[in-house]
Formats: sequence, structure tokens, C-alpha cells
Amino acid sequence: MRALYPGSFDPLTLGHLDLIERGCALFGEVVVAVLCNPAKTSTFTLQERFNQIHVATAHCKGVSVICFEGLTVSCARHNQVDLILRGLRAMSDFEYELQIAHTNRSLAPDFETIFLATAAHHSFLSSSMVKEVARFGGNIDHMVPEVVAQDLHRLFN
Ligand code: ADP
Repeated sequence: MRALYPGSFDPLTLGHLDLIERGCALFGEVVVAVLCNPAKTSTFTLQERFNQIHVATAHCKGVSVICFEGLTVSCARHNQVDLILRGLRAMSDFEYELQIAHTNRSLAPDFETIFLATAAHHSFLSSSMVKEVARFGGNIDHMVPEVVAQDLHRLFN
């Protein structure tokens, strides 16, 4: 099966990467879709986020990376995936994720959203938290792939 994993990935964390690897093991193929959202300013450009994921997933057979704009369900249809993959870290993610899943299902009932629970040791990881730590010179090596750590060091030093 082929799963679409959409997100901002601004930047990719080890929590995201864990989900991609487990998604691959479960479904065979994961298409990581990096969202270009003109209404939201991102820290890293679309090209930078694409490159980070491309490099960090080079070891994963079955992973491809794309960029998309607009509706997730349109992207899912265009890329002929079987399902949409999302992650859950805590109850605080649940309401937001459920609302997105219901919205997508109302638009395209043929795409199920499958949630994977975060690995417990990655449950505190978010892109924004990683950026806060990096901004103030904290160690982020256990939070993000090497390529992302390098980009964050460049950005804040
Ligand atoms: P979005 O802006 O679409 O929420 P994110 O890049 O923040 O994009 O997250 C993409 C998906 O990855 C979301 O489903 C989110 O819940 C999930 N996710 C984020 N961080 C983690 C983590 N540490 N462990 C598991 N899933 C995560």
C-alpha cells in the first residue's frame, strides 16, 4: 500500500522520521508531502525542507518526497495513495487531528486517515520546540536528523 504523510516539517524531527520508517514497514510505500502554505511563514523554505527530508530518508526504501499546495485530499488523489498517515503525540494533538481527518473524509470518503502513536521517547518533540532550543544554543542532536541539526546551527549561529 501507499501512504501519504502530509505536514509542514519545519523542520523534520526524529519523531517525524520514526513515523516515516514505521509507516514504510507497515504499508511498503510512504510519500512524504511537504506543505507549501502561503498563509503561514515558515522558518525553512520549501526547498530546504524538501532537501532535509530527502537526505534524512535516503536509507528508507519505499520513501519518496514531494511538495504540495492546496488540499491534502487533492494531493492524495493526484499521487494515487491508499491512505493518509498522521501522527499523535498527546491528547492535545487529538482534537486537531480528528477535525482534519473528518474534514478530509467529508471531502473524499475513499481516503482513510491512519494514526500512528508516537514513540514514547519522541513524544515531546515538535518542530517549534526544536527551533526554540536551537535558537538559544541548546543541544538538539538527539531531536533531529544530522542534516537538520546542521541547517539549524547555520541558521542560528
Ligand atoms: P502540521 O503543520 O501538518 O501539523 P507537522 O510537521 O507539525 O505538520 O506534523 C505532521 C504530522 O506529524 C502531524 O500528524 C503531527 O501530529 C505528527 N508529528 C509531529 N511530531 C511528531 C512526533 N514527535 N511523533 C509523532 N508524530 C509527530
